[in-house]
Amino acid sequence: MQFFNHNEFDNHEHVSFFSCPKTGLKAIIAIHNTNLGPALGGCRMWNYKNDEEALHDVLRLSKGMTYKAALADIPIGGGKSVIIGDPKREKTPELMESMGRAVESLGGKYIIAEDVGTCVEDMNQLSKETQYVTGVLQNNKGSGDPSPTTAYGVFLGLIPAVKHRLKKESLRGLTVSIQGLGHVGYYLCKYLHEEGVKLYVCDIDDDKVDVAVQEFGAIPLPFHEIYDVKADIFAPCALGGILHDETIKRLKVSIVAGAANNPLEAPHHGTMLSDRGILYAPDYVINAAGLMRVYHEYAANQGALFSEEHILKQVKKIPEKLETIFDYADKNGISTATAADALAEQIFKKHSFKKAA
Ligand code: NAD
Repeated sequence: MQFFNHNEFDNHEHVSFFSCPKTGLKAIIAIHNTNLGPALGGCRMWNYKNDEEALHDVLRLSKGMTYKAALADIPIGGGKSVIIGDPKREKTPELMESMGRAVESLGGKYIIAEDVGTCVEDMNQLSKETQYVTGVLQNNKGSGDPSPTTAYGVFLGLIPAVKHRLKKESLRGLTVSIQGLGHVGYYLCKYLHEEGVKLYVCDIDDDKVDVAVQEFGAIPLPFHEIYDVKADIFAPCALGGILHDETIKRLKVSIVAGAANNPLEAPHHGTMLSDRGILYAPDYVINAAGLMRVYHEYAANQGALFSEEHILKQVKKIPEKLETIFDYADKNGISTATAADALAEQIFKKHSFKKAA
């Protein structure tokens, strides 16, 4: 397996591999960049086909967190972790505790939160072994599940996208197709349904689809047909790498904007979307509200005041940030994905000069 020459390595500061034969833990913690502060990012538990797939995922995810924090004006670096295993069959309290010990061993360089395959109860379990954990249950002095906040940020972020691409002032009457009805996808459906949006949905878990059909009148689709449905917006809310040469050709939407991290398989897919006239709201900008929430929990653990009002104020800046990116992309004739990367790099790379000086 390539490591320092790995396509996604991108000068990661620190990558650690952990195993615990007693609990079955096999995990990787990746810290991309700490110019702005200690690394904060979620822990994904997934049944990866092999170690290579897990490494590829964690490197891409942690890099994304560096860019996310920079554009969200959060003094935090980029990091992420993955646990190799099926969360439905292999997750145990003991496994989570050993992950907590792995996080603790890094002495605060990496702060953990939830992601796909982990949840607020898991963060509680981890908190028995590490102080560097966020997204803990609210009655345990945590900020709870960040997903509803993430979904609200995505919902708000759809409005500037619709204004920019469709010249419409609101989402009412539009059609949105959603891939993935987990923690974020469910709440996004809820907000959109309340706004009078027609929903097409899919998930590999039929029970989640049934809930969306019953609660929000959503129209279910087989999961492989989500790329073919005609809609105004496609909102990816499952895993990454789903937009590539084959799927982009099939899209019949004007906008791609959702919660999923790294929906583009490779950077050129951002250009491919814009060449097809599809406006892409960069993932780490539109889905940053969850990070905003867990960052405030982390800051509160350091003595700052935890305020829901303050979080909401920050989340409400997401539309403005997206407008800046859309305008920057138009002015420079580049894709919105490239525009977001350039603007984020201006922020965190400037700090690396300060660090070196
Ligand atoms: P989750 O595990 O709760 O939900 C993911 C859902 O996607 C599950 O229901 C799963 O069955 C479904 N899924 C997986 N593969 C699929 C496929 N091929 N087709 C259709 N459905 C599929 O995770 P989540 O917390 O809702 O996160 C969703 C995405 O948003 C992830 O990419 C995550 O990294 C990103 N994200 C989450 C947050 C947060 O606050 N939870 C914040 C920022 C970004």
